[in-house]
Amino acid sequence: MCEECLVFTQRSQLSTLSHSRAYGHFTYIYPVISRRSHGLSIGVNLSLDNRCNYNCLYCEVDRSAPVSRGRVDPEALGQELYQMLSDLSPHSPALRDVTFAGNGEPMAVRCLDRCIDLAAETLDTLGFTDVPVVVITNGTFIHRPWGQRALTRLAAAGGEVWIKLDAGDQETMSRINSTLFSLEKLEENIFDASRILPVTLQSMFMKRWGRPPATEAVDSYIACLKRLSQAGAAIEGVQVYTVARQPRLSHVTALDAPSLEAIASRIRTETGLPATSYA
Ligand code: SF4
Repeated sequence: MCEECLVFTQRSQLSTLSHSRAYGHFTYIYPVISRRSHGLSIGVNLSLDNRCNYNCLYCEVDRSAPVSRGRVDPEALGQELYQMLSDLSPHSPALRDVTFAGNGEPMAVRCLDRCIDLAAETLDTLGFTDVPVVVITNGTFIHRPWGQRALTRLAAAGGEVWIKLDAGDQETMSRINSTLFSLEKLEENIFDASRILPVTLQSMFMKRWGRPPATEAVDSYIACLKRLSQAGAAIEGVQVYTVARQPRLSHVTALDAPSLEAIASRIRTETGLPATSYA
């Protein structure tokens, strides 16, 4: 699952934020203690209807619950962010980033560029000048005009993009992400994004019915990274991770730490890319 899906289950860890209970009424933002950011991250959910164009096997979003179908209001998002950042106390954990993720695909939202601008401006106004804006995306809207606009604004704001790449062959990708989106197009999108700003890849590995990923699937994944690297894609690093909590599907479980690290080690050795495993 994306980083975003950590958040709704982790509000109980936010005791160091002042007035943390008050954040329940916010529409767009939520605080989270993030594994990969190593600290406090403020998440932004633009998927008010909980919909996503993927349906990953490991997704934790409950799409059976009633949802809002309203349009995203960037100004309201900016106000929520201003309020939350203003409420951080000196005893709060260090703020690591403001991350657009949420219960669906943030780049599906056409005003993402405006939202990024407002987030960056709010951080600057309140003195968080070193805190980046991050967008976590499945990469399927990067070729769209609004995806390009969002990445351009993100680059201008000194932000980061983390792109999901869970497989290196079409069959495995279609099965894991439950999508018809083409792997070839995703690779093209990753490459194109990296021409706007350096990208971080996020790759999920899991057990299904107790079995780890097939060796052939990992081989294909490594080959895919090699293709991207050899084509000159600017890849800052690869995050190799696994499920943190039980997803909706009970046959999907976490891959053990040594197996994750073995994949990260293969990435480093065989592609030359920096890779970190997160058990
Ligand atoms: S891409 Fe969509 S379906 Fe997949 S984990 Fe993220 S929110 Fe869930």
